[in-house]
Amino acid sequence: MKNLLFTRIDNYSEFTKSQITKIHKILGIGARLIDVLYYVPHKYVKYSEVSEISNAFVGSDIVLQIKIIKHTKPLYFGKSKTPYKIYCLTKNNEKIIITFFKYLQNYVQKFEIDKVAQIRGKLNFYNGNYVISHPSLLAIYNDFQNREIESEMQTKIQPRYKLINGTKQSDVIGIVKIALEILQKNEKFLTMRNSDNFEQYPEYIQQDFIKVLNEIHNPTNETNIEKALNYLVFEEFLATYFATHCARLRQIQSNFISFQYSGILKQKILNNFQHKLTQDQQITVKEIEESQKEDKKMIRLIQGDVGSGKTIVALISCANVIESGYSCLILAPTTILASQHFQLIDKLFFGTGVNCHLVTGKITTTKRMNIIKQFKSGEINILVGTHALFNDDIIHHKIGLIIIDEQHRFGVNQRLSLVNKSDKADIIMMSATPIPRTLAMGLYGDIEISKIKQKPAFQKEIITSIMSMDKYPELIEHLRKKLENDEKIYWICPLIDDENGDGGVLKRFEDLQKYFEKEKIGLLYGSLKEDKKNEIIREFQHGDYSILISTTVVEVGVNIPNASVVIIEDANKFGLSQLHQLRGRVGRGDKQSYCIMLYQNSENVNIERLKIIKENNDGFDIAECDMKMRGIGNILGKEQSGDAGYKIANITRDFDLMQEALRFAKKYFHQLDNDLFLKQFVEKALQTYFPDDFEKYLQG
Ligand code: ADP
Ligand code: MG
Repeated sequence: MKNLLFTRIDNYSEFTKSQITKIHKILGIGARLIDVLYYVPHKYVKYSEVSEISNAFVGSDIVLQIKIIKHTKPLYFGKSKTPYKIYCLTKNNEKIIITFFKYLQNYVQKFEIDKVAQIRGKLNFYNGNYVISHPSLLAIYNDFQNREIESEMQTKIQPRYKLINGTKQSDVIGIVKIALEILQKNEKFLTMRNSDNFEQYPEYIQQDFIKVLNEIHNPTNETNIEKALNYLVFEEFLATYFATHCARLRQIQSNFISFQYSGILKQKILNNFQHKLTQDQQITVKEIEESQKEDKKMIRLIQGDVGSGKTIVALISCANVIESGYSCLILAPTTILASQHFQLIDKLFFGTGVNCHLVTGKITTTKRMNIIKQFKSGEINILVGTHALFNDDIIHHKIGLIIIDEQHRFGVNQRLSLVNKSDKADIIMMSATPIPRTLAMGLYGDIEISKIKQKPAFQKEIITSIMSMDKYPELIEHLRKKLENDEKIYWICPLIDDENGDGGVLKRFEDLQKYFEKEKIGLLYGSLKEDKKNEIIREFQHGDYSILISTTVVEVGVNIPNASVVIIEDANKFGLSQLHQLRGRVGRGDKQSYCIMLYQNSENVNIERLKIIKENNDGFDIAECDMKMRGIGNILGKEQSGDAGYKIANITRDFDLMQEALRFAKKYFHQLDNDLFLKQFVEKALQTYFPDDFEKYLQG
């Protein structure tokens, strides 16, 4: 059974060459059958198949046949333009317009005049017309097909997968189908219900594995999807618990560095910092210094809300380590953040003789190898980079401290393998994700936690408001004043499920260009290349862009002090903690900052949720509300994704499950050998999530 699930995809003749190439693109070269099976849809959408528009609700997802009448190209008005439009008729001669804000020639040309297209998309109503923007084209016929629509309005659920590098939904669906067939053929190897205790286990893991995966990819209804997801989430928490605790147990046994320093270097960088540390910062520094002097490995999580000033604390710890004759490694999730840290280090360590280098994807391999060589020889005191650095063999015995910024962006797997490799070095992780102490211990093993609650005093409270989209014109005028005052504006749009992965940003971009002809507007979304993204953010940070329209890619850590307004469109589509994070992009300078959460009046928007953000400025409180408000039945339409380094599990959404899994894991941690089912279950879970190190963990 192991072999079956954990065999690399390229060994299966069932997949075509082109499918294998696609799997490699999405999941990496080493992708195994299990990785394909665990490629969980990021979203489930519900749609109804209808024959007449009058049977559908505006705002709902529908499947519909339409006859194509006429194409019209965009009309230009100065800088702005209308979308590409295709006029169509339904079987009953109802008019409907399909619009494309982004003109993809190959795609749009498939809508041949006089043919009948079967499309799927969200039904809208603008200026007296029914409109569907960027529909998916399901089929093209010569004429209307008499499809059995079992009953109009009956909804079906469809999985939607995250797409990468030009793959299509249909590609993923085809690939997953084959993977499931392979699994089905080998069903008898997969039954593992050989335990006396079986009935005592949580129902999540009593479920049949094949059924679970079938439900994930071929969903029947919401309740069943939720049950199936629970299996995977519970399994992921279990695997993490076992891996984390085994890793930590093995480490406790070796002896570690106790740092010896006078504090001169720390004093120098504090002088260069020019601000007084807040009380919480001082306490955290003290806690770290106590650990540094002990002859024991420190693994510490610094939890602090966005903008609370975690970075300076981490850099003070570096100073002590360097003064003791060791070097430091700082890892950030993106190039932008890595460069930001590098700039600060450059400033703070000015005149101290400390040698700091930055490694990003931009520099040549030769140069990178050279820097790594210098780092390993001890010539470089601080090396800053993204977690890609981690693939290079950089760990050496003179590293005294490894700092992981925004640790929730690192995979649990990466984090653990770092703990494993780092030998004697201390580890400091920084995070704005507030998780209660007991859970943090469960997640990360036996770690120390420091909290920074206060924010630096100069920061003015951000003024938050909730605004209907009806007030758009007034908002624009308000923004105009801000722009005249040289302030910068973020405009965040939610990800809209479309085949191009660019979300609603394009539409907003075109619209705002109309209003702000003189301004340079940046446009940022997930499917852009990393380099391009960095360039755009840099242009917003230091260059000409005064407005940045973006999806949530800009969420974490970016520090642009003269950005003073953040607009969040369709704010109700974001999680509470996410809204708080987004708001934290502003309020980092001395200007009064604003966060405006927009909602569409027509939808049944839950304003109460937004009020929590408006009335609350504390990330910890907000996270608590978020955890309380997560409920059953919101699987559909919502973005499902892991967080805090998890692949599938999401600690906000799956808070209860996490607690349950931790209790369960603690109870059975030492009893695996007595229970064959559980042993096999944990083995499978570890091998799924920790392919490189699972054997070590099993021995532990
Ligand atoms: P985060 O905890 O979100 O990573 P940063 O470390 O980026 O926050 O700090 C946010 C901003 O506050 C930075 O511009 C930083 O220089 C500034 N800052 C940090 N500590 C203080 C302080 N004690 N006094 C004044 N400004 C500070
Ligand atoms: Mg930070």
